[in-house]
Amino acid sequence: MVVKLETTLIKDWEGYRGRPFLISGPCSAETEEQVMETARQLATVDQVSLFRAGIWKPRTRPNTFEGVGVVGLKWLRRVKQETGLLVGTEVANEKHVYEALKYGIDMLWIGARTSVNPFTVQEIADALNGVDVMVLVKNPINPDIDLWLGAIERVARAGIKRLGAIHRGFSSFEKTSYRNQPNWQLPIELRRRVPDLPILCDPIHIAGSREYLHEISQKALDLNFDGLMLESHIDPDKALSDAAQQITPNELKELLSRLILRNPSTSDPKLLDVLGELRQQIDVYDDHLLDLMEQRMKVAETIGKYKKDNNITILQSARWDEIVKRVMVKGKAKGLSPELIDTIFKAIHQESINRQMMIMNTGIDIHPDKP
Ligand code: PEP
Ligand code: MN
Repeated sequence: MVVKLETTLIKDWEGYRGRPFLISGPCSAETEEQVMETARQLATVDQVSLFRAGIWKPRTRPNTFEGVGVVGLKWLRRVKQETGLLVGTEVANEKHVYEALKYGIDMLWIGARTSVNPFTVQEIADALNGVDVMVLVKNPINPDIDLWLGAIERVARAGIKRLGAIHRGFSSFEKTSYRNQPNWQLPIELRRRVPDLPILCDPIHIAGSREYLHEISQKALDLNFDGLMLESHIDPDKALSDAAQQITPNELKELLSRLILRNPSTSDPKLLDVLGELRQQIDVYDDHLLDLMEQRMKVAETIGKYKKDNNITILQSARWDEIVKRVMVKGKAKGLSPELIDTIFKAIHQESINRQMMIMNTGIDIHPDKP
């Protein structure tokens, strides 16, 4: 179902300089000097529209740097006066909203640890009622599209028109090379449900380290995200938060110069643009299907091991029959043809049997370290 929100298209936002709408600045405001110097350097990067800095920092553990607090808002105001850049900070409760508005902050973002909590989001939305400010809602830390959309809707209902979403990845128990799982299908689904809502990507919080910034930023552009938020610090290694992942303003320039903004140039560029975006979406879904099949096969193998240990036959006809009936009904409800369901599930089932046969007959333990 498509959701209609009364929001302004990003091309009509103050400070918009074309795609990608670029937000940059340090993870945290640390000193007035660090803030001002970072801002001066970022003001020389053409694409940057808005300067960000965290003032209240939600950190995983206490006794780490938790932000400079209200004094940082004065520094942001100075950034705006001296560089002309718009400024933004994170708010996590109504008090933060009131303080930030007092200092004329242009953009407030709701962080991933806040958007997860409807009580807090509602409190923030109430504080924003009737105010004209840009608001960006980061995805909640857990991959729940309704929770993300719900937070966006709460803010929209407070009358915020310049409203957008930031995709910053999702926490996961499984550790991969990225700090947070991108789960690209979630922002894609958000775009499908709220087509006019601007969506920005925060590659730095997905990556967790500098080396993946380019690939994630490029992917976001290829998926037609409207903007990017990229943290930048004058001396990243000495940063008080997120030292491993920030880049200098010069490195930001270099990264931007390597990003390709794909612009199809045939007789019908608009159509090609749409097709290109849809094909990227297909690739993401196919990757997702492959991941799911891999996981499904691992479970089938584990079952095979139990069958072997307990001397049970591989083919359990009643169980297979139950699977077929179940997926046929579910598939039909999703508008998928019985032929498709039949072909796919027979192939998947055959692959599971092949793997279990291998375990049964060769004694090969495919996952020796797993139960
Ligand atoms: C941040 O942008 O500095 C931040 C704390 O982000 P997130 O809420 O995505 O963790
Ligand atoms: Mn950060």
